[in-house]
Amino acid sequence: VRVAGSLYTKEDPLVILSSGSLKSSVTNSSSAWLLQFFSSWCGHCVQYSSTWKILAEDVKDWQTVIVVSVLDCAQEENYDICREFGVQLYPTIKVHMIPWYCCCTVGELSADRQVQVMRHLMVDILQNHTKLERPDHCPPLETYSSEDLLPLLGQRSEYYTAIIVEEPESYIGREVILDLLMFSGVEVKRALSSDRLLMDALKITTFPSLYLLHPNSTHTELHIEKKQRFFFSSLLKMLPGVQRKPRGFGRTSATGLLEALSVYTADLESALHYLLRVELATHDYLEGEELNIFKDFVTVVAKLYPVGGSVVKLMKTLSNWLSSIPLQRLSYQKVLDLVDNKMRIAGMFLGAELRWVGCQGSRAGLRGYPCSLWTLFHILTVQHDAMPTALENTGLEEEAAPVLQVMRRYMRTFFGCGECGRHFEQAAASSMDQVENKEDQILWLWDQHNRVNARLAGTLSDDPQFPKALWPGPTLCASCHEEKNGVHIWNRNKVLVFLRQHYGASNLSPKYSI
Ligand code: FAD
Repeated sequence: VRVAGSLYTKEDPLVILSSGSLKSSVTNSSSAWLLQFFSSWCGHCVQYSSTWKILAEDVKDWQTVIVVSVLDCAQEENYDICREFGVQLYPTIKVHMIPWYCCCTVGELSADRQVQVMRHLMVDILQNHTKLERPDHCPPLETYSSEDLLPLLGQRSEYYTAIIVEEPESYIGREVILDLLMFSGVEVKRALSSDRLLMDALKITTFPSLYLLHPNSTHTELHIEKKQRFFFSSLLKMLPGVQRKPRGFGRTSATGLLEALSVYTADLESALHYLLRVELATHDYLEGEELNIFKDFVTVVAKLYPVGGSVVKLMKTLSNWLSSIPLQRLSYQKVLDLVDNKMRIAGMFLGAELRWVGCQGSRAGLRGYPCSLWTLFHILTVQHDAMPTALENTGLEEEAAPVLQVMRRYMRTFFGCGECGRHFEQAAASSMDQVENKEDQILWLWDQHNRVNARLAGTLSDDPQFPKALWPGPTLCASCHEEKNGVHIWNRNKVLVFLRQHYGASNLSPKYSI
């Protein structure tokens, strides 16, 4: 994968081809390819690149059947291949079906063909190219009739069957079928509202609708809050037992998924336990910048921790002690002595063990500490907004986003996963300076966390019972999701309201706490 000029980078969810890789990539693939030949000096192409990136992100989960890609004809090494493919104008978008040389030009596009139009075109290509072979993994996109579907009612099965009933011109059914390609445990089928026999049997009167056949043979129509593609897809992805197929690995056992409604103080206590007693204890001494970062972290937690009790007393005492000592170098053993012995005598203590609740993984090695650290920092951003003067006179308030800056420095310096710290630092360096106020601070962290979720979805660190996905999903916050020109968008105001509530002090559950 090459970097094509500065228009596309390897961070974009698409494949960057070159003369050397085009034929081998396309020939050795069982997918169709949607390939944009562009030129990095062409103004249209520059403008169109943002649409192309949104499209690639929007159909990322369709990659096993159709791949979004680009090739820069302005690069000298690509001159010949662009000539071979007859590219005269930019951008030119071509589709390669299997066998790979079955190539058709979709068109020389001006920068006005929007994401939804392109997505519909992709669906049509997959469905209509009857003369050509359809990609291996492409499921049927045609409609099923009452004759096919009614015998399934009352049958037991190993998976769910979701029937999307819609008007003939609707694309939602086919898009949802493709959205669920990377998920196991559910098969999506499409039926038409004109099939009277089916409508009478299922008692469906509005369209599009979702009818679900459960593995245990029961069946029911599901309520969909908004009749939008994202809502249909998200609801199916959230069904118990439905899970993302790990990239390149065999299936693990399927179990249910519930989006956690509460946030547990036990997870926050465990985060602090692990951070103070394990992560930092790998450092014999803290000095200079490291010591300052540690002090700032303790100050932020002491000032913003949302509930009272022994933990906050401990962090306050630790914070006061750290500010009172004039040392430039601190033996970490002294911190441990204070936390484990002296403060315990005074009734201030952290739990003696890790107790994950909201962050409990389905097996050892999954979730736990990193989950609790995200949770802690989301809470601290929300608390900072709720208590705007809490960091006054700490020296931290001079920065526009003090909680994020403290998190950034902590991740960079102490977080055990160096690669994670580096990624976070890159993200912080590129956009944290745009955070202007406490609301932005909450939303920046939420957005960044979603980017990490998207990057890690389906990798080995993804707990199959808690698959990483855009968060909050529609069941947690329906009003957070909207559609613009057929593309999912966030309603950031609603997200902010949701985050304030979800990570607010009143939503913290003390269950299982020390
Ligand atoms: P987590 O992603 O840890 O999320 C915890 C909980 O937060 C979820 O259960 C959910 O309730 C809530 N949540 C989810 N998304 C959001 C959101 N957008 N906004 C607010 N709340 C949300 N691992 C890597 O392999 N590579 C990395 O580069 C990497 N970078 C990381 C950077 C940071 C700053 C941190 C703290 C962790 C990083 N990790 C990384 C670990 C990874 O992000 C997960 O924390 C870990 O895999 C555990 O995942 P989880 O399923 O418990 O959910």
